Amino acid sequence: MYDPLSDKHLPPAQHAVDSYWEKHTKVRWPDTASMPKHSDVLIIGAGYTGLNAAKTLAESYQQQVTVIDANRIAWGCSSRNAGFVMKSTGRLGLSQWADRLGDKTAKAIADEHQTALELVKQWISQSPDQCDVQRGGYIKLAHRAKAIEPLRQQYQTLKQFNQPVSWLSGEQLSEQLNNRHALAGLKFDDCVSVNPLKLAAVTAQQTAKAGVDLVENCSALSVKRLADGWQVETTEGAVSCSKLLICTNAYTANKLVPALTGRSLPALSSIITTPPLTQQQLADTGLTPAQSYMDTRILKYYFRLLPDNRLLMGGRGAIRGKQAHHPSYAKQLLKALKQSFPGLATIDHWQHFWSGWVSVSLDDYPRVGAIGDNLYAAMGYCGAGVSFSSLAGKRLAQAAMGEELPRLPYYQSPLKRFPMPSMRRVGQWAYYHYARLTE
Ligand SMILES: Cc1cc2nc3c(=O)[nH]c(=O)nc-3n(C[C@H](O)[C@H](O)[C@H](O)COP(=O)(O)OP(=O)(O)OC[C@H]3O[C@@H](n4cnc5c(N)ncnc54)[C@H](O)[C@@H]3O)c2cc1C
Repeated sequence: MYDPLSDKHLPPAQHAVDSYWEKHTKVRWPDTASMPKHSDVLIIGAGYTGLNAAKTLAESYQQQVTVIDANRIAWGCSSRNAGFVMKSTGRLGLSQWADRLGDKTAKAIADEHQTALELVKQWISQSPDQCDVQRGGYIKLAHRAKAIEPLRQQYQTLKQFNQPVSWLSGEQLSEQLNNRHALAGLKFDDCVSVNPLKLAAVTAQQTAKAGVDLVENCSALSVKRLADGWQVETTEGAVSCSKLLICTNAYTANKLVPALTGRSLPALSSIITTPPLTQQQLADTGLTPAQSYMDTRILKYYFRLLPDNRLLMGGRGAIRGKQAHHPSYAKQLLKALKQSFPGLATIDHWQHFWSGWVSVSLDDYPRVGAIGDNLYAAMGYCGAGVSFSSLAGKRLAQAAMGEELPRLPYYQSPLKRFPMPSMRRVGQWAYYHYARLTE
């Protein structure tokens, strides 16, 4: 698998990922365009971020916009994620933001996350089959006794900000879920989960309808500053633009844009799905399709029951791209699943296994905005971007049009550079070992 830290470029025209979504979903993609020689605004990366930025620029600012992607539209994370539409991004909870920057900023961040959720809900309402939405909320599970108190603090902060959340004690939780690693739960009542491919397709359809040209199978190889904009060399030739938006997120090749080099750690997240659970297994686990779950581990596990009763289970994958497909990572997920759910002890294989890159920032939260003259980027969502990316795309478009963004940490500074960036993989390896040892 392509590795943003070791491969020079993302190869173009690759097959779609071999995921459950690709196998079980029929979507209609919009017509695509051929590469122009010039575009007022050029966006690299046609995932949720790039598409939302493009639509905002075309619709609200009447810009002529082209989006290029090395592969099919939404080939990256936006077609292969778990579909949890959460009210968060990065790895910091609201109580941590409150400790760092005070209640006022934390409340403003909560409001921004709410806006992101509402944006995705608008997309869902425009999808012919509502993106197969499941509306039972998202539950964060304390996986061990020590995790209960910090989770309860998060609950209290959210309550103080009038967020629709509920607290589930271990006893209440055990009435609905038979999971050994669920000692208490913080439920976000208005969060949903979706089929991510359908979300990408409806976003792409509406973006094309707004007049944006979408160009597939066109990989950007280098970017060069011009007197009045940028020139991008691609596998389909050169294109110039007045403004350039980098929406390649975790898939950004390390040296594609010098202003981003060394500022993100691409980490693999992997998913398996089981065969459809039997009625007995459903009864034994207490799983229903309504809710989605993630635990409080440093290296988190997340799971949800899909509409056809398969269980999707995800977690951190390999460190390097070349090991991404190794079955040991799927085995690890299956083992974790069986350890959590005694009712699934007899499941002995997975049906689908796939991985994708998420962009981890040094200080655990994303950045969106200018990174140079007429150059803009959004990245570092740390694996929580299904809802935030829609808003990030919109904010990025606003920044590109010279509008002032809300005074939130996400929009005020560029991503921090990792110390000794060439050692990122070594640091990641050490961190994974530390996490496994401590938990
Ligand atoms: C396995 C997995 C599960 C996840 N589950 C969840 C979840 O349940 N909830 C959640 O909130 N988040 C989840 N995420 C994260 C979420 O999917 C991402 O944060 C979000 O989709 C990012 O969207 P994006 O548009 O910024 O980037 P992407 O969707 O990754 O799009 C980037 C695009 O850029 C293109 N590109 C890269 N380089 C070039 C180039 N040189 N030239 C042209 N094109 C290029 C790529 O082909 C790609 O299509 C998950 C991620 C993974 C991998």
